[in-house]
Amino acid sequence: MKVVLQNLTKTFPNRSRKADGDVVAVKDFTFEIPDGKMVGLLGPSGCGKSTTLFMICGLQEPTAGRILFGEEDVTSLPPEKRGVGVVFQNYALYPHLTVKQNIIFPLQNLKGTEKLTKAQMEEKAYEAARLVQIEALMERKPGELSGGQQQRVAIARAMVKMPRVLLLDEPLSNLDARLRLQTREEIRRIQKETGITTVFVTHDQEEAMSISDVIVVMKDGVVQQTGRPQEVYDNPVNLFVAKFLGTPPINLFDGNVRNGRLYIGGADVLGVEGAADQDVTVGIRPEGFILEDKGPLACRLSGIEVMGRDISVVSAHDASLNPAVRSVINAEKQVDTGGEMVRFSLKPNKVLLFAKDTEERVY
Ligand code: ADP
Ligand code: MG
Repeated sequence: MKVVLQNLTKTFPNRSRKADGDVVAVKDFTFEIPDGKMVGLLGPSGCGKSTTLFMICGLQEPTAGRILFGEEDVTSLPPEKRGVGVVFQNYALYPHLTVKQNIIFPLQNLKGTEKLTKAQMEEKAYEAARLVQIEALMERKPGELSGGQQQRVAIARAMVKMPRVLLLDEPLSNLDARLRLQTREEIRRIQKETGITTVFVTHDQEEAMSISDVIVVMKDGVVQQTGRPQEVYDNPVNLFVAKFLGTPPINLFDGNVRNGRLYIGGADVLGVEGAADQDVTVGIRPEGFILEDKGPLACRLSGIEVMGRDISVVSAHDASLNPAVRSVINAEKQVDTGGEMVRFSLKPNKVLLFAKDTEERVY
């Protein structure tokens, strides 16, 4: 089921006496979520992710714009008529009900032709439980489960009606690091197995990048960029997106372009043919540095961190906009840790230039 968002806007009345005007939580959001795909809705806290999700599931009504599931306009349908399954950050299970009763719950108020017998409900509950591998826990109460198990129950409950669209709002935030990793892979597996169109909301760029077919990056209620994760990482449209994606984060320098050459701190570091003469913010991905004795970019060496296969060279540069320059280099390369300076040449496709004023990408 494809989901179409057309010029979705949501404003809230401003209760603060000091500030004027409404709070614009989501502004003019237009996007088509392809059928059967997993979309990662990504951005910092307060950028409008949950509001967008709530509008898709019907818990909040848009101030303007339309939502379509396939060809059907669902903008004014109540949540229970939309065929959506929702999972929230805090699992929101009923504490006095068993796991099985929790999963069955959404099936109990089906009416008319949809009404199920007790046996049918049980069968569906077990089917959903199998999907998230909690069949053995069906008689327990939520209080007797770990966080990860509770979240699986919440997912099973969202899946039990075989929703047309699955909506997940920061579903992994309450889990520890290892469980987070494991559960996100599980969500991906379930999504692929069932082919349900899914929106996955998170503020964690790595999480979104690792499991989404498409990511949507938001800031202040406005969509900044959409695309396949690698595409957006390689070709961010502006400085915000470039900074938001990637660990370690992109390194930023003051620089300028003169006659098709890029200068950082006076040194001619790279040919940038076609870029107009101007002052720029230079973004260099950590993997964009090549350690080279005669490399044009000279940094003061501060230290080396070994990270298994790779090493991270930490250094400093006067034109750097961050306290540390982090470059990731293959561990087979020898770094002279006694030296004061390290010199780099740069991989052209890992160097991104942004306008100083608009922060738009210019090269
Ligand atoms: P996110 O999920 O990305 O953290 P939200 O969608 O929850 O962001 O919020 C977006 C913006 O809308 C925030 O500035 C938030 O304070 C505001 N907001 C959200 N819900 C309400 C509400 N019910 N009333 C007023 N403002 C709200
Ligand atoms: Mg939120």
